Amino acid sequence: MINLVLFGPPGSGKGTQASKLVEKYHLIHISTGDLFRYEMGNDTPLGQQAKSYIAKGELVPDEVTIGMLRNKVEAHQDAKGFIFDGFPRTIRQAQALDALLTGIGTSVSALIALQVDDEEIVQRIKLRGASSGRPDDSDENVIRNRIEVYKNETTPVFDYYAQTGKSHSVNGIGSIAEIFGRLADIMDSL
Ligand code: AMP
Repeated sequence: MINLVLFGPPGSGKGTQASKLVEKYHLIHISTGDLFRYEMGNDTPLGQQAKSYIAKGELVPDEVTIGMLRNKVEAHQDAKGFIFDGFPRTIRQAQALDALLTGIGTSVSALIALQVDDEEIVQRIKLRGASSGRPDDSDENVIRNRIEVYKNETTPVFDYYAQTGKSHSVNGIGSIAEIFGRLADIMDSL
């Protein structure tokens, strides 16, 4: 299995690139943000639990997020591998992911971080908010809080996988095709 953690701040292009990576490498794409939005759209108990955190741009508690992710991975044990998009966002989530993958006889192959500076991110997310209807993409304070949360709680995950030589960074500025080329070079070297 090839298991990629697609990493980077909100608005760095993870979702766009994940779709292209799925086409080329036939992996299962798991976006915890998309899963939460699906649950909220259906007003499920899980969606109701997640809603207030997402509205403020804070992280949904680890136990909720990890449980949801586990169900999704266990449902696809025959997959060629996974692209984790927006997960793990804390060290605890990274440890849970490692344990989960070890349990099915595999591991994280690589983490690739898309690097985009803060002001570019704010502009991109506002633009996305105008068409996506996502409330957390439409309020600048919430967007800036998401960036802060990323810096404080999520960037340690990059260092965590760097300890085993698995972390890579690519420039997240450029055309979709250029950025995809940078990601594919790393994928093809795994
Ligand atoms: P995203 O679409 O990845 O930007 O996620 C949107 C929102 O969902 C985030 O701002 C968090 O509130 C929540 N969320 C998504 N993934 C996670 C995660 N791995 N851990 C905690 N909260 C998450």
